[in-house]
Amino acid sequence: MGILTGEEGDPVALENAAAQGPVILVCEHASRQLPASLGTLGLSAEALASHIAWDPGALAVSRLMAGRLDATLLFQRFSRLVYDCNRPPESPAAMPAKSEVFDVPGNAGLDQAARDARTRALYIPFRDRLRGLVETRIAEGRPPVIVTMHSFTPVYFGKPRDVEIGILHDADARLADAMLAAAGTDGPYTIRRNEPYGPEDGVTHTLREHGLSKGLPNVMIEVRNDLIQDVAGQKVVADYLAGLLKQSLPAA
Ligand SMILES: [Zn+2]
Repeated sequence: MGILTGEEGDPVALENAAAQGPVILVCEHASRQLPASLGTLGLSAEALASHIAWDPGALAVSRLMAGRLDATLLFQRFSRLVYDCNRPPESPAAMPAKSEVFDVPGNAGLDQAARDARTRALYIPFRDRLRGLVETRIAEGRPPVIVTMHSFTPVYFGKPRDVEIGILHDADARLADAMLAAAGTDGPYTIRRNEPYGPEDGVTHTLREHGLSKGLPNVMIEVRNDLIQDVAGQKVVADYLAGLLKQSLPAA
């Protein structure tokens, strides 16, 4: 039996497919939904609602930004606990047996067949759909800009984080540089480069796979999730980030 039933549908969701703007928004950690075939992975309801299962607020902000930027949005409909689509199949972090302070019993000791089944169910469709979208845009003579959207927990391993928005990049910093310059130092948020994570943490997989490999401008945006817990906060952050991107795209 496969991981997903037919009723659970396509693991990849695409919105605003006909958008005319250059940006493709990608949200790998949009959902905390688990496939019925995997039960709860041995986790409590509290753990399954927490940031280890998804990026709270990231999809809502992405949808608002997609409207403001006339951007296409692609996201994963299942939890990163099953497969973290911002990691390649060979990475232990793709199906972590431990996430922050939580053990994930359903991910302990997975054999290669189990890893392959999850990779086929969630990662391959996601990678191939994004790749296809990017290649179509290039063929149409409108090469896209890849923007991945994430949120992070305000307290990690018991330590509060003061950064509010992270602008992350790998070897190609064009767009990140332009956004950080546009943000300046007296804006409404504490914004930092490659925080609270950076390429050394393995978080730039999607950027490398779909942006750097084709020479496309790309950036990863991390928002502290306490800023985007409700619609009011989501709108403020989406307006701000869409504005920053609009200012930065001509320079990237
Ligand atoms: Zn994330």
